[in-house]
Amino acid sequence: MSDDTTAYTPLADVAAEPGVAKPDPLLKVDDVTRAFGGLMAVDVSHLEVQRGAITALIGPNGAGKSTLFNVLTGFDRPGSGRWWFDGKKMAHMPAYRVARHGLVRTFQLTKALSRLTVLENLQLAATGQRGEAITAAVFRPLWSRQERAIRHRADELLERFRLDHLRDEFAGTLSGGQRKLLELARALMVQPTMVMLDEPMAGVNPALTQSLLEHIVKLRDEEGLTVCFVEHDMDAVMGISDWVVCLAEGQVIAEGPPQSIGTNPAVIDAYLGKQHGTPPAEELTS
Ligand code: ADP
Ligand code: MG
Repeated sequence: MSDDTTAYTPLADVAAEPGVAKPDPLLKVDDVTRAFGGLMAVDVSHLEVQRGAITALIGPNGAGKSTLFNVLTGFDRPGSGRWWFDGKKMAHMPAYRVARHGLVRTFQLTKALSRLTVLENLQLAATGQRGEAITAAVFRPLWSRQERAIRHRADELLERFRLDHLRDEFAGTLSGGQRKLLELARALMVQPTMVMLDEPMAGVNPALTQSLLEHIVKLRDEEGLTVCFVEHDMDAVMGISDWVVCLAEGQVIAEGPPQSIGTNPAVIDAYLGKQHGTPPAEELTS
């Protein structure tokens, strides 16, 4: 790959069609459904996510974006369907095992986590998602070595996200932008190969969104991480994504490179046309 971050080309020849095959898919989804009562929240017949790319998932409120994330990461059960992560069949796998295979999603900082320090939040993310607390109790001598490794990883992430001066502060005292960075750092504690970010910019002041976006791009460029993110801000989507998937009523109604998506009639009809305050499609692509 070239040093030029704009030269990400593996998707250049991929057709902008729902369910289209990718040259190197890290995640493959087949016929995944999830219903709540009579409501079909997710109904994805086929979707592939390219390894090492940033894929944006867009669509109206209630389209099933969060539910799809939950199902794929083991936090919710599908009604039916199969999916493969890095060639490994993932259905029926609990979340901690999905995470161990390298697929994680971020979570909003809860009230309980707000009462832990920034460092404790990271330490808990490492042990909690891997179920290592049990191992540690059985193999005491290993514990301190493992604890040191966790601490080392936490320090690394605190430095990267410039949160190191806040390590001993309660997470609840962080600003909106710092919270989002902590949520991201928590997901990265287990050194995943793919992260799913559900509205990573929500509630962040505009001055900080650019820095958040830059961090996400760096994850792709410097670590080869595969990123899938849900976002309503079309400037952010256009700015950093290599590929955009549009979900409506649980189904993939369109996908393609970001330049193509703003003018896609299905996307305008289901999403962009209904968004308040959204500029017309031609402005989105300019
Ligand atoms: P999005 O993230 O795209 O806004 P969601 O995945 O949150 O959409 O929701 C998809 C649909 O499923 C919505 O109609 C929502 O009301 C419904 N839904 C989501 N979670 C539940 C749940 N736990 N119980 C019942 N309905 C739900
Ligand atoms: Mg959602």
